Amino acid sequence: MNKKAFYDLSYGVYLCTSWDEGRPVGCVANSAMQITSEPATLAVSLNHKNHTNKCVSDTGYFSVCVLAEDCDPTLIGKFGFFSSKDRDKFADFPWKVRGKLPVPDGVKCWFTCRVIDKMETGTHTVFLGEVMDADVLSDGTPMTYAYYHKVLKGKTAANAPTYQAEEKGGGRYVCKICGYVYDGKVPFEQLPDDWVCPVCGAPKSQFEKR
Ligand code: FE
Repeated sequence: MNKKAFYDLSYGVYLCTSWDEGRPVGCVANSAMQITSEPATLAVSLNHKNHTNKCVSDTGYFSVCVLAEDCDPTLIGKFGFFSSKDRDKFADFPWKVRGKLPVPDGVKCWFTCRVIDKMETGTHTVFLGEVMDADVLSDGTPMTYAYYHKVLKGKTAANAPTYQAEEKGGGRYVCKICGYVYDGKVPFEQLPDDWVCPVCGAPKSQFEKR
């Protein structure tokens, strides 16, 4: 099998959020899509290892939030490379309850869904949700997964459906948290001490030379 073929499928960069006993939780999802228009339904695929998966199963509700190209990239870092089990991912971002679910202010648009069916695979659950409400918060360009990789130089979290084990780029200084490869003009050693990873917000000390 030529696994490069999978790179030709198109994806977005989304946040999927839910509640854990009243606490907002969420993770990054790249596999979300509209399934039908009447009634409007969306499907999202979440890894079994994502705490948000359990919360969506328990509550029966989830949101899908679309990120724009000009969004705060630390949204992707915080929601994509940490676990809601031991961290309040919403703590660093303004957010509101929108359509009964927690939605960060910095997203482009959001959909809130009630789970009407789900399908289990070996690693992921595909949730089918009926859309209860939706709104657009900004007119930015929706971020594609290709943009995330090519422009933000982002890496794939190991829990993502699109992760392939061989995706371990070379490069020089690499963020141990999110895999971001530093390629700025200033030599890495000369960056100020308070410089942080532009994707996940990790400090300089979390970078290693490869
Ligand atoms: Fe990082």
